[in-house]
Amino acid sequence: MPDFKVTELSDDVDFDNLPYWDVVIIGAGPAGLAASLTTAHRALTTLVIEAKDRAGGQPQFLYADKRIVDIPGFPDGISGEELSQRTYRQAVDALVQFRFNEELAGIEDTDERVNEEPLKRVVTSKGEYLCRKVIIACGLLHFPRRLPVLDQLESSNVHYKNPKIGDYEGRNVAVVGGGDSALDAALMVLGRGGQVDLLVREQTPIGKGDSLQQIRELGGRVHTATEIASARFSGDRIELTLTSGPSLLCSLAIVQIGFLSAKDTFQRLNLTLNDDGSISIDPYFETSRPGLFAVGDVHGDIKLIAVAWAEGIQAAIHAFNEITSPYWLNEKRLKDHKIALIGEKIARAASRGAVRK
Ligand SMILES: Cc1cc2nc3c(=O)[nH]c(=O)nc-3n(C[C@H](O)[C@H](O)[C@H](O)COP(=O)(O)OP(=O)(O)OC[C@H]3O[C@@H](n4cnc5c(N)ncnc54)[C@H](O)[C@@H]3O)c2cc1C
Repeated sequence: MPDFKVTELSDDVDFDNLPYWDVVIIGAGPAGLAASLTTAHRALTTLVIEAKDRAGGQPQFLYADKRIVDIPGFPDGISGEELSQRTYRQAVDALVQFRFNEELAGIEDTDERVNEEPLKRVVTSKGEYLCRKVIIACGLLHFPRRLPVLDQLESSNVHYKNPKIGDYEGRNVAVVGGGDSALDAALMVLGRGGQVDLLVREQTPIGKGDSLQQIRELGGRVHTATEIASARFSGDRIELTLTSGPSLLCSLAIVQIGFLSAKDTFQRLNLTLNDDGSISIDPYFETSRPGLFAVGDVHGDIKLIAVAWAEGIQAAIHAFNEITSPYWLNEKRLKDHKIALIGEKIARAASRGAVRK
């Protein structure tokens, strides 16, 4: 017998005319999708706002073809695309509602109340949504850093995410960057019979040493302390002039040089941030603004799909508990948290005192 019974949302809910949503989730990556499934499986009306035209987040947009091998239950691995599509289908089946190509602009507090709890207004690039809880799951790595020297070519052969296998199979590819994403991209190309020139600005690539060694063993050429000075078309190929020496001909370039921070969005939301710019949360995944939760890559050190799933699920359950339990219980939860923090402070002070003695 399953130990969790799905409480289905009724098919006849008029999602276009709800006075408010129980939960609005920002981002349809692994964290947002897992959170949405969990709230919908508890019969909470759930809306997911996604800036891109599809669900999936990083696995869909940054490494659709990569075989992900660290997801429990998939001993043969699963591609980023398949994993994204499966999770999305599960959410759609649970009657989660999606708005694509729509970006979060702000979250306002309102005077309207449900069960004494003030509603929030989520403002996006296309509309406004009243809701009881918001789960922020928009990842940290939204916009890839661009390389103007390649952008000026306006070429479809310059990629900021791993292209489809067929685009590079057997061809000569320049991979720009020295972090794990760039090394991953280089290995994927080499694994499909392509040739790779890895262009790294630093003297030593910051990505994993064993990946770099594998690239060299598979015949990849690694150019360190190297940048692209200029780029132009040469027939159907791209000719790159390198700062470290001769020029290089490639069929396509994959640029993986990091991402612009999502810090600006977080600051606009008036949330307390950690020193590294990520969102600060309490043990219930709640941010400094009550009723706003944050899950997945937007905070924390461990950036993995399974971790994003687990956090999305936990935040969704905390949101569900707050929505369905009496208001005074929420107060109690907050008090419990404060008491726990005071307890921690006292324990720390006591241990410092013990050391001094
Ligand atoms: C190259 C690479 C390889 C990786 N390989 C693995 C691996 O093998 N195994 C593994 O476990 N993890 C891997 N990871 C890490 C994993 O992909 C992330 O930890 C995971 O995707 C985080 O999920 P998330 O939902 O928090 O964020 P994301 O996946 O970033 O999803 C966030 C979503 O929010 C949307 N969004 C952002 N801003 C807004 C906005 N303002 N309004 C609306 N929507 C918005 C984005 O478009 C995106 O769809 C890899 C990461 C990279 C970069």
